[in-house]
Amino acid sequence: MRLHLERTREGYICGKCGRFVPSGYDHSPQELRHLMLWQHQTFIRFDRYRVDCSDCGIQTEALEFADVRGPRVTRARGSLVHEICKVAAVKAVATLFGMHRHTVKAIDKAKLAGS
Ligand SMILES: [Zn+2]
Repeated sequence: MRLHLERTREGYICGKCGRFVPSGYDHSPQELRHLMLWQHQTFIRFDRYRVDCSDCGIQTEALEFADVRGPRVTRARGSLVHEICKVAAVKAVATLFGMHRHTVKAIDKAKLAGS
């Protein structure tokens, strides 16, 4: 399942300092794994913008559903994987979600680090 997101909000947030930036610098398509919808893996696809912040220069925008760096998953997906990693082996989590075990480990490690 692939969902295409359309931007409705005006303006952008600098991914480094959190400052509001009225216009985007450039953008490229990004695809992230999201939660399951019924038995289907769900991916969201959208244009990820970079901003030209007056303090930080060119930076990736901040989004509430996705981290600036790290595995290509939504925050919701990352949290779910992290929670299940507390009670199941990495290999089992990887099989359950259809993800590579290195990706599962990277998500778990990033969540433990507090992102
Ligand atoms: Zn900034």
